[in-house]
Amino acid sequence: MKPAPFDYFSPATVDEALALLVEHGGDAKPLAGGQSLIPAMNFRLARPAVLVDLNRISELAYVRAESGGLAVGAMTRQRAVERSDVVARAAAAPRRSHALDCAPQIRNRGTMGGSIAHADPSAELPAVDARARRPVPGEERHGRRSIPAGEFFKGMLETALAPGELLVEIAVPNLPAAAARRSSSWRAATATTRWWGSRPP
Ligand SMILES: Cc1cc2nc3c(=O)[nH]c(=O)nc-3n(C[C@H](O)[C@H](O)[C@H](O)COP(=O)(O)OP(=O)(O)OC[C@H]3O[C@@H](n4cnc5c(N)ncnc54)[C@H](O)[C@@H]3O)c2cc1C
Repeated sequence: MKPAPFDYFSPATVDEALALLVEHGGDAKPLAGGQSLIPAMNFRLARPAVLVDLNRISELAYVRAESGGLAVGAMTRQRAVERSDVVARAAAAPRRSHALDCAPQIRNRGTMGGSIAHADPSAELPAVDARARRPVPGEERHGRRSIPAGEFFKGMLETALAPGELLVEIAVPNLPAAAARRSSSWRAATATTRWWGSRPP
């Protein structure tokens, strides 16, 4: 099958993406690697009227070592995490877990943020401890909040993300490679999100 008709936008910045998501509200969905969303659209299980493609937003693709762990941009490809020297040095668990899962073709396109936002309980991001983050100074215009996984994952394919809110970063504390597990094991990750305008519920 082919997807239902939709409008397509390809913003170059987080600000543009947030503005589009707010403008189109519940009709819009972010498109990351497309490995889960596009098949769902092809089967008409998902019928967003608007796709906001995040693939041109280079500011969302990074892996940074931080005190006690990693900060991973939402649009960082799973393959990039797997191959990252920063990850290898700081946190072996995400690297090993993605080496265990789907085919390289999927990992070349699939993103860390897409996997977390999709909230499939059979996904393989590793077990990590929750970590709080404070709002970033100078970002009052677009709120920024951190959501521990215990609050982020609401159920199967269901998260605490509000309409118009974008997952921008995942915080991963250092863990040994043995912490990588197969099922439902990502449930303690911390996600950082941004939204446009007033704070989501
Ligand atoms: C054949 C196949 C096998 C697979 N096997 C495995 C496996 O063994 N293990 C595993 O863990 N995964 C597996 N996957 C899933 C794969 O890892 C996907 O890449 C992942 O689930 C979704 O990531 P994506 O970047 O493609 O997101 P997309 O498909 O683009 O998006 C998924 C959902 O998240 C939302 N979204 C994406 N980014 C954001 C954001 N920044 N903010 C808010 N919402 C966002 C989208 O709107 C959509 O609802 C498999 C997929 C396929 C097709």
